[in-house]
Amino acid sequence: MEEEQTALTVALEQLRIAAEKLNLEPGMHEMLKHPKRSLIVSVTIRMDNGEMGTFIGCRVQHNDARGPFKGGIRYHPSVTLDEVTALAMWMTWKCAVVDIPYGGAKGGICCNPKEMTKDELERLTRRYTSLILDVIGPYRDVPAPDVYTDAQTMAWIMDTYSQFKGYSIPECVTGKPLSVGGSEGRAEATSLGVVVCVREAAKHLGLKLKGATVAVQGYGNVGWNAAKIAHDMGCKIVAVSDSVGGIYCAKGLNPYKIYEHKSRTGSVVNYEGCKNITNEELLETKCDILIPAALENEITKANAANVRARIVAEGANGPTTPEADKVLYEKGIFHVPDILANSGGVTASYFEWVQNLTREHWTLEEVNRKLENMMVKAFNDVYKVTKQEESNMRTAALMLGVGRVSEAIKTLGLWP
Ligand code: NAD
Repeated sequence: MEEEQTALTVALEQLRIAAEKLNLEPGMHEMLKHPKRSLIVSVTIRMDNGEMGTFIGCRVQHNDARGPFKGGIRYHPSVTLDEVTALAMWMTWKCAVVDIPYGGAKGGICCNPKEMTKDELERLTRRYTSLILDVIGPYRDVPAPDVYTDAQTMAWIMDTYSQFKGYSIPECVTGKPLSVGGSEGRAEATSLGVVVCVREAAKHLGLKLKGATVAVQGYGNVGWNAAKIAHDMGCKIVAVSDSVGGIYCAKGLNPYKIYEHKSRTGSVVNYEGCKNITNEELLETKCDILIPAALENEITKANAANVRARIVAEGANGPTTPEADKVLYEKGIFHVPDILANSGGVTASYFEWVQNLTREHWTLEEVNRKLENMMVKAFNDVYKVTKQEESNMRTAALMLGVGRVSEAIKTLGLWP
């Protein structure tokens, strides 16, 4: 039943489709279904009120055949081992699709950061880092930000890791602030990659970006930056939303002003001159481009038929279920899947890691030029498979990613 789908059932179904299309040997398919290692930790900290608080966290390392594990850390009340496992698997395919030398991992802590103070979050992050210390590291597994974690969180991870090792190791984590080895352009990179994919898709549709209407679900790092970049490229942002709700304005919104409003009030809703809408309505907004940039399982069998965009570019990981994929494909929507559309984030993370390892600092122009080249190449690689296989972009991207990973596993061989 569609309603019962979780991120993991979706990820496993996607893998099944790719394995079938690739004619993968059953043993390889079985191996890829499971993470190489999952570590569950219980993170106990002193809360500001003096009481003890215990939070369950994990780090899941899916596959490292192509290079060290890489993936974000999520703080959210709905984090589960299954969800993090799905996200780790998607990281494996994503790094392979954009062809960077990483495997896939993800971490998470089940907590509500909105109800915690900055001091509590710092203690939580440092304690969690100490608990996963043995399985992370610059050549082992390199964390990065995800939902409700940011550059400050990464700085705490870097400091904790460095304190344990006895010297400064900026390359142990990416998405750091510029002052401690972060890369120019990292904060906007995921969104820049999403918009580059939108631009490439628009070319195929003959859609002009100037004046094209855009709806964005989620107004965090990925959503707000995507709205900003699309706006600066001439698109008209007509709807945005966050966990509280959304707003719509046919005349177009100024994303910078909405960002200020959200920073002041805590949400995008109740912005003067706009109509408040629900997140469900946002997904069904008539627009040229829809960018889901919040959480998983947002476009499902229940609402896919009502999506009225010409392009859907997934800023979020796993926003669309496999059944909804089919519906969007049949409707002729140009659907750019997560493992391609949002791979700009991990690509810029890779650039940050390379800069840290070589003790270099690249300019913003250099980062963005390299990022754009890699995104366009990945887009074209996936598009080529789409045409060859007569499949949707998701299946093509999965075939490319899963194919490259299984090739690496075969080449390495099984030890012993
Ligand atoms: P974030 O914490 O900065 O922002 C999340 C946003 O989603 C917030 O505006 C929040 O209010 C909103 N949100 C939460 N629940 C919602 C709901 N039910 N409906 C609508 N909005 C909701 O997180 P982020 O880094 O922007 O990540 C967003 C998505 O992008 C996630 O799926 C993440 O895995 C994916 N992603 C992030 C990066 C990155 O570099 N940060 C890279 C690749 C993919």
